[in-house]
Order: sequence, then C-alpha cells, then structure tokens
Amino acid sequence: MIGIVIDKGQKDEIERIYRCWFNKYLKPFKETINKDEKLKKIIFGENEYNEEDLFNFLLMDTESLKVVKEKCDTNNTIQLKKETVVYLEKIYKNFRSSQAARIVEKLKILSCPYCNQNGLITYKKDGKRKFAGELDHFYNKSKYPELMICLYNLIPSCGVCNRLKKEKNEKIINPYDILYKSNITFKTTFDDECKLDYLFGKSDHFKIEIDKNKLSDEDLNEIDLLHLNERYKQSEDYAQEIILKSMAYDPIYTEKISKMFNESSEEKLNQYLYGYRDNHLKRSFSKFNQDIMNEFKGRKE
Ligand SMILES: [Zn+2]
Repeated sequence: MIGIVIDKGQKDEIERIYRCWFNKYLKPFKETINKDEKLKKIIFGENEYNEEDLFNFLLMDTESLKVVKEKCDTNNTIQLKKETVVYLEKIYKNFRSSQAARIVEKLKILSCPYCNQNGLITYKKDGKRKFAGELDHFYNKSKYPELMICLYNLIPSCGVCNRLKKEKNEKIINPYDILYKSNITFKTTFDDECKLDYLFGKSDHFKIEIDKNKLSDEDLNEIDLLHLNERYKQSEDYAQEIILKSMAYDPIYTEKISKMFNESSEEKLNQYLYGYRDNHLKRSFSKFNQDIMNEFKGRKE
C-alpha cells in the first residue's frame, strides 16, 4: 500500500550493512553453490562463479527479482537440494536476528508498508538491536528458496500482514518498487438520515470504505489479500476524530497555530493537526488520516 522510498544514501547504507554481514558467508556459500547446479544456474546462468555477480544477485532490484522469479517458475522441474535450502534457512535466520533492526532503522520505517496500521518497533536490549516486527518474503521462501536472502525480497512488515500473505502468490507490488504508486484511498459512507450529525462529527452511523475507482489489479489483489477493507472498518473512531478536527480548525484557529509553531506551510500544519506525514511509513494510520482529512476539508470548502 505504501511504497518504501529510499534515497541514494539509504540504499548505499543498507547495501553496505548487507555486504559486511554476508562477507563471513562468502566461502561456505560458494561451496553450497558449487554443490547445487540449480542454484548456480539461477545465480550465474551459464557463467562461472564471480563474487561481484553474486552480490548483484543478492542485491538485485525489484524488476530483476521479478525476472528471476519467472525464471524459477519456468525451471521448476528441478528443485534446490534439501541441504541447500537448510543452509539458506540458517543464514536467513542469522540475518533476521542480527541485521533486520539495523536495516529498518536506516530505512526509518515506523509503520508496516502493507497496512500502515501496525507499528514496526526497533529497540536496544543488552547492547543488541532488536526488531519487534517481521520480515515478509515478498516471493515466499517455500516456493522460491532461491530468493530467500535477497535483500529487496525481504519486506519489513507487521505480523498480521506477514501471516495473511504467507504462502499466497497473488500478484501485488513489491513495496521497494520505486515506480510503485498505490491508488488505494479511504473514504466514509453514511446514512442520509443523520447527515448533519455526521458532518459535524457527532454521529458514528457511518462506514469506512476503500474507494475502488481507478484501482489497478495489484491494488485490488492487495486489498483482498491483506483484508484491508475489513481491517479498516473498525477505524470509525479515528475517522470521527478527523471529522471533528476538520470542523474545529477554522482559518482563525489555523492562523493561531501557525504563529504558535512558527510554521507557515499549510501542508506542514495539516500534518501536525491531522496526524499524517509526507512519508506515511513514519506514522501508522497516516494515509488513512490524510484521506479522511481530504474528504472532509473538501466538503467544508
Ligand atoms: Zn501490516
């Protein structure tokens, strides 16, 4: 739902962290590749082992991931050896426990990119960084073990989304895809009888819906796969707060706040007042809050 937009500095930094971590596995990984023709073919094609090609594979972008996934689909008559999968599982677990928190901190992601509902928490305990969220294998690891440790196949996410997505192969967009732009928008619908109360934020006789106009197949798949409609249906309380604010924040009040915080940008003021951010991954419910604000600010004007 929300793309993970990373700048050049962040990209360099997370890839540096990954390379440093992987260096200790270079030798045993090379041995694993040499013992498994399928893995070798997927990583190097007809070429010989080359360290830089290996890192190009592990750090490939979302477009290349898609190509390799399709390659795995067409070459599925031969599977990876059992010991290869066991080894990949082992190093993935090490990455998860030792590096995930560092990567999430560098990405500055505080909310799940799939739902924007649940927070992704990192913290320090006994000198070690911990990540309280999960890493979702965008292409699931049981079907595509070849992609198990590829950096951009590992999506920081909440437990709910990870469980809903597990083992399913519906076509959705990888949040790391830089061209990703979801059109999923939240809105409210109401019963005409209580229209006035509703517009003044006094009525809770309304429903939350996702506007299904102009949605791509991928967006529709994502709504269905992650139960977004059902999960946001319970957010009337948050919506009511936004509706009330949109009534309360008239131009005089907004000007007062603007002076108080020495902030002249209307966009920035709206972010403070309604609880959303430019980058929705910095705050849970950010996209929802912004959509409901847009709906009601528009009605008032
Ligand atoms: Zn989630």
